[in-house]
Amino acid sequence: MRRNKAYDTIIIGGGPAGSTAAAVLSLHGRRVLVLEKEKFPRYHIGESLMPYCYFPLERIGVIERMKTSHFPKKYSVQFVSLNGKVSQPFYFFQHFDHPAAQTWQVLRSEFDAMLLYNARDKGATVLEETKVTQLLQDNGAVVGVKAVNKAGEERAFHAPITIDASGRDAFSVARNRWRVPDQKLKKVALWTYYKGALRDPGLDEGATTVAFLPFKGWFWYIPLPDDLVSVGIVADREYLFDETRDLATIWQREVQKNRWITQHLAPGKQVCAPGVKDGPFYTTSEWSYRSKYCAADGLVLAGDAFGFLDPVFSSGVFLALKSGELAADAVHAALVAGDVSAERFRDYGDTMRKGIEAMRKLVYAFYDHEFSMREFINQYPHLRGDLTDCLIGHLFRDFDELFARVAEFAQLPEPLPHGRPLGLL
Ligand SMILES: Cc1cc2nc3c(=O)[nH]c(=O)nc-3n(C[C@H](O)[C@H](O)[C@H](O)COP(=O)(O)OP(=O)(O)OC[C@H]3O[C@@H](n4cnc5c(N)ncnc54)[C@H](O)[C@@H]3O)c2cc1C
Repeated sequence: MRRNKAYDTIIIGGGPAGSTAAAVLSLHGRRVLVLEKEKFPRYHIGESLMPYCYFPLERIGVIERMKTSHFPKKYSVQFVSLNGKVSQPFYFFQHFDHPAAQTWQVLRSEFDAMLLYNARDKGATVLEETKVTQLLQDNGAVVGVKAVNKAGEERAFHAPITIDASGRDAFSVARNRWRVPDQKLKKVALWTYYKGALRDPGLDEGATTVAFLPFKGWFWYIPLPDDLVSVGIVADREYLFDETRDLATIWQREVQKNRWITQHLAPGKQVCAPGVKDGPFYTTSEWSYRSKYCAADGLVLAGDAFGFLDPVFSSGVFLALKSGELAADAVHAALVAGDVSAERFRDYGDTMRKGIEAMRKLVYAFYDHEFSMREFINQYPHLRGDLTDCLIGHLFRDFDELFARVAEFAQLPEPLPHGRPLGLL
């Protein structure tokens, strides 16, 4: 087995979290190695961005490319009731006057490739088709990884610190059994794509639509480039799969339950996911979770590897970008201090936990049968701004009053204790 030169940081996974961390560390002048098991561009679900994605994207220098891209512009989120009635859209520009008030619906293959190549342009070494298979340890601290490339060659890479940004695979979390499921958010998703389906006119052309199903299931409807629409269902497993496991039958059954969805899909033709031969239906389960720890000595987690939250408010990519950015800054500071122990990442873990908990409360409220956004805003109009802050990703602030009032309508969860550095709980 060949040995390699040492890097300052190894990053497992070149998705939004890993690529952002790689770009930020490279901008700090660090020698970074990204190991990505796939060849980019590769398909990925998670296409609707939140306005606050703007800031990490600006920092790593890709915002101008986003502005000139062909990705549909997203100005709002709208909700559609079971009988097909559309809510007043939440237009982000009504809340804040900044270019970030307009965001995008992205083809993840193109978006993720842009971020990964940007990290390379900033100086990171990126090895695609190279799968990490083992964490290397010395006295309990992570000191590098073993990885296998496409040709089957195994190599060891060394660095004082490794960022695990391996997404829902959650490489180190799975191996250490750190994954703690959020018991109340055990959902499944079933999704597909349509060409030529309806788009709303004008400003609403690129809106994300959340359309309700019985028992608090819901559809997402996300307009993409090239006349493509991503459309999917999130619901309880029992609700979706009780009668049959045939995906086409389930899909047709559910589409008929929401008039807006039926009408919007009617002129369209179902197709496979962009760049994917198998399909046209895709599923995932094993829903929301958090890692028990955010870091161990020589290791820190970012993006979905740290935690995954139900996608109803499109928070995943934002949390991935933000955690990649914050983890990279924390890693840089740890390297400057010559101390990459788990404790160095306490503040990082606390910040991420706080943001995730705000979003998690909103997700719980969404699934609570007693909660309606419209009624809530009617009763507490002065809290519309706080609620919109959550919806746009302005998450790292206090929401004490908002959630005290939301708790009058919905049962909200206690913060999870997980996500602190290992050994210090
Ligand atoms: C059904 C569904 C709908 C969603 N909708 C939205 C949405 O509308 N908006 C939104 O913001 N988010 C959405 N999300 C969430 C979003 O997809 C994720 O939060 C986001 O992709 C996380 O980015 P990441 O960089 O952490 O992980 P990923 O994007 O998954 O990237 C991880 C990378 O690591 C690589 N990798 C894994 N293991 C290894 C290994 N051993 N060695 C090397 N490389 C490895 C993978 O190949 C991958 O490229 C959705 C998720 C689901 C499941």
